[in-house]
Amino acid sequence: MVKRALISVSDKTGIVDFTKTLVAHNFEIISTGGTAKTLRDAGIKVLDVSDVTGFPEMMDGRVKTLHPKIHGALLYLRDNPTHAAQAVAQGISAIDMVVVNLYPFRETVAKEGVTIEDAVENIDIGGPSLLRAAAKNYKFVTVVCDPSDYPAIEKELKENAGNVSLPLKEKMMVKAFRHTADYDGAIDTYLSRTLLDEKVKRFSFVGGEKLRYGENWHQDASFYKDTRCAGPSLSSAQQLHGKELSYNNYIDIDNAILTLKDLNSPNPSVVIVKHNNPCGLATGKTLKNAFLAAWDGDPVSAFGSIICVNRVFDVETAKCLDKKFIEIIVAPGFEPEALEILKKKSESLRLLELKDFDKPFDNKLVYKHVTGGLLEQTRDVGLFEKWDLVTTEKFPDAKKGVSEFAMSVCKCIKSNSISIAYEYEPGYYMLLGMGAGQPNRVDSIRKLGAPKAYDNLKTMYDRMNAETPMTITLEDYQKQVISECVMASDAFFPFDDSVIFAHEAGLNYILSPGGSIRDEEVIATANRLGVAMVFTGMRHFLH
Ligand code: 5GP
Repeated sequence: MVKRALISVSDKTGIVDFTKTLVAHNFEIISTGGTAKTLRDAGIKVLDVSDVTGFPEMMDGRVKTLHPKIHGALLYLRDNPTHAAQAVAQGISAIDMVVVNLYPFRETVAKEGVTIEDAVENIDIGGPSLLRAAAKNYKFVTVVCDPSDYPAIEKELKENAGNVSLPLKEKMMVKAFRHTADYDGAIDTYLSRTLLDEKVKRFSFVGGEKLRYGENWHQDASFYKDTRCAGPSLSSAQQLHGKELSYNNYIDIDNAILTLKDLNSPNPSVVIVKHNNPCGLATGKTLKNAFLAAWDGDPVSAFGSIICVNRVFDVETAKCLDKKFIEIIVAPGFEPEALEILKKKSESLRLLELKDFDKPFDNKLVYKHVTGGLLEQTRDVGLFEKWDLVTTEKFPDAKKGVSEFAMSVCKCIKSNSISIAYEYEPGYYMLLGMGAGQPNRVDSIRKLGAPKAYDNLKTMYDRMNAETPMTITLEDYQKQVISECVMASDAFFPFDDSVIFAHEAGLNYILSPGGSIRDEEVIATANRLGVAMVFTGMRHFLH
């Protein structure tokens, strides 16, 4: 039986091959101006819409398919005798498939200097009408609005003797309505901004997968995917093993991905995250080295942590996890044997594959929902604006690598944050201590970052000492290491007390954005204490 397809596409990607498949399955093709030309040029027999309607395309294409011969053909219920009789009486024959994608409105208004006339001319009228009519009659009409769906339709045509199944038709119908809703949303956003000076923000997140609970057991929660997000994201991650992700898992994984992506090291790197803060981070010659160094950055907090790595998770590293309790591992891939080891380790250990880890982040804006509103800002991209040595004490160039590492992790720790970073092998760095989320910076240094660094060094010392007796005392070892570390602060020091406490802890190198009204006082204190300090000019608050 001959079926009919109406094809009218602005984005002509893949349309020739797809139409050929339709023709091969006995479809007669009806098409509009530009699309008909493309198809004819490819040797496909096409009927013009005007042949069906008896009306020419007119008014610069504003009216092409808006006609009862088209819309009647799409909308009449095939199993309703009255509809069928009316169709016959009016000489309307059914259209079984609509392949339409719309005028590129979003692309047009994204162009610099676009005029309102250009924008309005790119508001598709007939296209959404076709999509909506076909979608409304989805049981009888297949509606295709996205070239990426051509393969799925072709597959079904081949497998089902030229027919499309109801489930696929339903899927295509929902997609068509979502598409026209997004399209109208984009028009509203543009026109409100341009004509009413009113900004409208629309999001299209889908899925709403129910999570077991929210941040706490008594809270309900869901996860919606950002369908437009390309690049590494929680939407593209594939779970290979383990319990379903919880609300808090999503938040921690996000922090882990951000921390590693920000670090952007060419070397194997591992981050360990707890409660939305990186508590361990290291680069290494191998992934195993990086993992062990990251673990040393806070073995206490690492219990029940989530780990993210920038390399395929290998067997060597998997073996290091023995007896260590970890909730999640995120990696661009897993060696098959490593995967087996990890799967055996625990039923609940969640393993997530993030294949596109190397790709850049696609979303340049970040949002935060606040009571009664939404905050939008651009991502915190960049590390330093300048590198100003502000003290008489020199800050060796050789410390630039570990300094970048220190500030990079500081960016991903909740304010007020400080990080203490150590070049544990030439060219490889580890986080030795961090202070997070304190309402004052002094506590982040004095009560958290510095004592943690000392504790971690003790653990490392004891382990090394047990293997081969150390030739220096623990105290000397701690002092020696700390004296070489770089401490980074996410924001300026409002007073000189932070410098004093850092110095008391044995730190000699400090990195701060600078910019306080008391900078002079802070610098004078650093000079008096013989501490080297660089101002970087870029604040990295994170709330
Ligand atoms: P073509 O390149 O085939 O000339 O035009 C294809 C575009 O026309 C498609 O994006 C489709 O959505 C749109 N279209 C189809 N029918 C009509 C109509 O009656 N009016 C308007 N404005 N656009 C239409």
